[in-house]
Amino acid sequence: MIASLSISEIIQKQRNFWQTSKTKDINFRIEQLRTIKQAVIESETAINQALKADLNKPPIEVYIGETSIITKEIDYAIKHLKNWTKPRKVGLSLEYLPATARIVPEPLGVVLIIGAWNYPMQLIFAPLIGAIAAGNCAILKPSEIAPHTSDLVAKIIAKSFPPEYITVVEGDVETSQQLLAQKFDHIFFTGGTSVGKIVMEAAAKNLTSVTLELGGKNPCIVDNDINIECTARRITWGKFLNAGQSCVAPDYVLVNHQIKNDLLNEIQKSIQEFYGDNPKNSPDYGRIINQKRFQQIVKFLQDGDIVIGGETNIDDCYIAPTVIDNVSPQARVMQSEIFAPILPIIEYSDISQAITLINSHPKPLALYLFSDNKNLQQKVLQTTSSGGVCINDTVLQFGVTSLPFGGVGNSGIGSYHGKASFDTFSHYKSVLYRYFLFDLKLRYPPYAGKLPWLKRIIG
Ligand code: NAD
Repeated sequence: MIASLSISEIIQKQRNFWQTSKTKDINFRIEQLRTIKQAVIESETAINQALKADLNKPPIEVYIGETSIITKEIDYAIKHLKNWTKPRKVGLSLEYLPATARIVPEPLGVVLIIGAWNYPMQLIFAPLIGAIAAGNCAILKPSEIAPHTSDLVAKIIAKSFPPEYITVVEGDVETSQQLLAQKFDHIFFTGGTSVGKIVMEAAAKNLTSVTLELGGKNPCIVDNDINIECTARRITWGKFLNAGQSCVAPDYVLVNHQIKNDLLNEIQKSIQEFYGDNPKNSPDYGRIINQKRFQQIVKFLQDGDIVIGGETNIDDCYIAPTVIDNVSPQARVMQSEIFAPILPIIEYSDISQAITLINSHPKPLALYLFSDNKNLQQKVLQTTSSGGVCINDTVLQFGVTSLPFGGVGNSGIGSYHGKASFDTFSHYKSVLYRYFLFDLKLRYPPYAGKLPWLKRIIG
């Protein structure tokens, strides 16, 4: 950040830089992507320290959920960028000939990227990769709720790029609002649905396009034709990773009543296997981000019978990996995204009950189904809507670079990762090239007698 400048002055400097067209050069873009990769690799220790301080994130979760996503996205973008940026020729019908038509990607300009605190590094860098690949300048606003990582992101960016190209503006909600009051060429926001609405309202004032990467209540259906041990392990990992604070974590489980008890037993075994007898002492188990958030979520423990876990400690922001049973669909814990290590279990006897319950909620970011039954898979895919789906696993779809990632309805607008990131930060300009070779006079006045001929040509 350029300390002495106001936000509008920073934006103006970026606009001036963007006007030089330097960012449009493909080799320049590739060079900048390599710079980020190098900076992330060199900062590994500092990244681990910042995420430990903010979320008690173990290094392997930093690697899986933050740094490897960034480096994979960079490698993929570098590999495909020349192809993505090529103008694409499209066909033309007879009446336009002789001519050619092309779709030409162009950068949007100066973009704003606002991040959330739960994967505070990756949620800034992954969209930034798309912004750079597409040829934009960018202002980044990491979440103030993860202050160590926000500070580190600012340092890495300041070391890597001139501020008239890419810069960080650190700060809280007020800073975010000051940024949102400015005119950008695109706003990429990751956060909660209610703040997403505020962002979209602010963007509308300047007619700025938005990508909203929001949250939701991700259902996890478990039917009875599965490998229970493996299912339990995959649900336990996806739910309790980052202490339940993942936008794609399974929010609640809908289980076939015939296997509910077996599933609960296996989840208990997996928790024990992963985090030992007392997860509080495990180096591999995270913490709730802060005491304010702890107080908001701890009340969910009262919304069912605690069958696994339930221990809490506010001083340490600790909530044990917890499973609650006998949860009413009307309970508080079922009304909003949990975003905590608390897993409600609801049983069904017929899949249509599970589908009805899912469809009674706004469209989620992710939906999980554990079943090898192809008909059931098809039925769930056809009768529900969600940002994405993962069958027989959890969370992994987020890391697949070739799959666009994003929500639908309340869980978001737009998508990114891989080519989708490039598309998000590009405008596809339609260009028609005409020649002087031949000029069909039928379209020019006077029109008398020309319509039947025109209809013959156009059809
Ligand atoms: P949040 O919406 O509270 O904050 C996100 C960002 O918005 C922060 O940088 C914050 O400073 C800013 N902000 C907060 N209130 C604001 C306001 N009133 N006006 C303007 N800016 C404001 O979200 P969070 O608590 O940081 O993150 C948790 C949420 O994010 C969860 O709902 C989670 O599911 C979602 N999330 C989604 C994804 C995804 O990729 N779809 C990824 C991670 C998190």
